[in-house]
Amino acid sequence: MSTSVADNLAQVSKEIDRMCRHTGAPAAQPRLIAVSKMQPEDRVIEALEAGHRVFGENRVQEAQGRWLPLKERFPDIELHLIGSLQSNKAGDAVALFDVIHSLDRIKLADALKKEMDAQGRNLPVYIQVNTGREEQKGGASLEDLPGLLDHARKIGLNVVGLMVIPPVDDDPTLHFALLKKLAARHGLKGLSMGMSGDFALAAAMGATDVRVGTAIFGNRS
Ligand SMILES: *Cc1c(COP(=O)(O)O)cnc(C)c1O
Repeated sequence: MSTSVADNLAQVSKEIDRMCRHTGAPAAQPRLIAVSKMQPEDRVIEALEAGHRVFGENRVQEAQGRWLPLKERFPDIELHLIGSLQSNKAGDAVALFDVIHSLDRIKLADALKKEMDAQGRNLPVYIQVNTGREEQKGGASLEDLPGLLDHARKIGLNVVGLMVIPPVDDDPTLHFALLKKLAARHGLKGLSMGMSGDFALAAAMGATDVRVGTAIFGNRS
């Protein structure tokens, strides 16, 4: 892909805007998380220089290496952790990130809460749901979701929504619809859904956060 990152960002925003208008919900524009994992530094700088400030990473260590230096130059950056998190990395994650999208088990909820208390932070958290019942994938099962949510709320985590990564071979709309239903049932407003192939669809279905990598930066190295 030879298009500039700035052009891609504008194009993605335009498509989201068009979709939201189309569904008559212009007030509900989702937040565009530019997923910078495994992207070359110069592409990320391009996005920053185009004025974009919201980024997603899926590994704590890789994100630290990239963003700790960049945060000095661009202090208003907002970082989202979208990949699975080991409990022993909770401290580093809470220190670096502003939003966590991948809470999927009680042990991790406890670790995050402990670190947030210790660091005096209270990050918004999404619970990732494994709607496709894929063994290799992170996310709470449909059966475990109510108990996990209950626990997270009880210990005082700020749970704001649900997150999904649909199975690659499925129609994503089924998973987006299910996520929306689950969120409504549990009184949650946030819907983190939609990637490069389906962000416009997700926006039309009420996503509050879309996570877009390759459509902005090109293929990952
Ligand atoms: C990598 C990743 C994305 C972005 O995927 P693209 O297809 O490059 O847009 C979104 N969400 C999660 C959880 C990811 O790991």
